[in-house]
Amino acid sequence: MTTDGSARTSDLAERLAAVQRRIDAAATKAGRTGDLPTLIVVTKFHPADDIRRLAALGVRDVGENRDQEASAKAAELAELKLNWHFVGQLQSKKAKSVARYAHAIHSIDRPGLVDGLQRAIAVEQEGTGRGALRCFIQVSLDDDAGAHRGGAAPNNVPMLADRIAGAAGLDLAGVMAVAPLGGNPEAAFEKLAAISASLVASHPAAIGISAGMSQDLEAAIRFGATHLRIGSDILGSRPAVG
Ligand SMILES: *Cc1c(COP(=O)(O)O)cnc(C)c1O
Repeated sequence: MTTDGSARTSDLAERLAAVQRRIDAAATKAGRTGDLPTLIVVTKFHPADDIRRLAALGVRDVGENRDQEASAKAAELAELKLNWHFVGQLQSKKAKSVARYAHAIHSIDRPGLVDGLQRAIAVEQEGTGRGALRCFIQVSLDDDAGAHRGGAAPNNVPMLADRIAGAAGLDLAGVMAVAPLGGNPEAAFEKLAAISASLVASHPAAIGISAGMSQDLEAAIRFGATHLRIGSDILGSRPAVG
């Protein structure tokens, strides 16, 4: 590796350790010491070499939000056997591609996408014997449609959950949300925790809560996040393109 490369590796190591300290501190404060959330490092817009460096530092779960970029990186880094989490809005026509590499999808927001993923996974399982796809229902926590950051309306969660639970090859993992821009993340994640609790009442295994980004991971941990999606605080700011 070049000198540049090792400087980048130590930079990533420092930032990763700082985020892990924040997670530990927030978990301790919330009384969740035996129960740390899974850290998904969101690597969108950053090169595959950064993912190699993160893997060498012990990262196993990575997140991407565009299929074209994710599928290329997953193919290039296949030997690392990472868990690829798809966290972006997904067009149904991309289901086939995502089914090849994704361990989990965090952005399921409509029944047509569930159906597309079910068909894609069936083909993929027949060809490769891959495991079930973990599915998080993305919930919109915006009261105001103008500030919309994606996701299904909360009252559509039961319908989507039943559809995923009834689909061969799909595992209902739980719920996901992005805190509304400019809003109070605590209030948003408290609402998400309530939506999760009512989901778990009818689907007891669907205990996942994917919440918390660089700016609001402490609030997410306080309200029960099981999966954090952290990008910029580990990788630095994203290049402006894309
Ligand atoms: C980019 C992204 C993240 C990571 O955000 P940071 O603020 O960089 O930590 C998390 N979740 C989703 C859905 C994203 O698109």
